[in-house]
Amino acid sequence: MDPNQLAQIQTQLHALETHVEGHMRYLLTEAQRCPFGGNHDWDRVLTQYGQEHDPPLKRLEDAQRAGQSKGASLNEVRRAAEGLKKQASEELDRVAAPLPIGAAGMIGTAAGQLGPRISHLRARLSRVVDEVAAQHATNVCPPQNAVAASVNSVFANATSTAKLTPWANVKFDATRVYECRACGAPQQAELDFLCRYCRSPMN
Ligand SMILES: [Zn+2]
Repeated sequence: MDPNQLAQIQTQLHALETHVEGHMRYLLTEAQRCPFGGNHDWDRVLTQYGQEHDPPLKRLEDAQRAGQSKGASLNEVRRAAEGLKKQASEELDRVAAPLPIGAAGMIGTAAGQLGPRISHLRARLSRVVDEVAAQHATNVCPPQNAVAASVNSVFANATSTAKLTPWANVKFDATRVYECRACGAPQQAELDFLCRYCRSPMN
């Protein structure tokens, strides 16, 4: 194989490895810093990873059910991480495409050295979604809820965690949940005359 092409693949692989870590940090930072359920900035992060955002009511209910005290809903964070994984996997396929088939078996050759590295990155990508979800749960749930929430937000016990959430014991009425027009944070109009996040009037 052309040494120049091999060197180029090595450079691209290195860039991809760095980008995956960078994107995970970015995703987690944005997911943590947005209001309970999300907002427009978080919508844009979802769009970046090719995902739609949930309606305001679902965002509130999901975040409450998972026992979160803040941040984007775990369901949306999981979807964003799926999108990240898909984009990075496609990029990896593209980078690895020029390598001869069975390069991993070509022990001692320059192309052979790339095989294990590519396998390692594929393994890394297969864990991205669970890792991001577990870290987000640790960031936004009280410690006693984080494990259950990261395994599956559906299993988190809403009754036992209700006192810990900012929406303790609130039953959301679908007809009264709005998105703040200024920042996009979901909230219940009855409780919030002003958006509790950006302080703009709710309607
Ligand atoms: Zn607002």
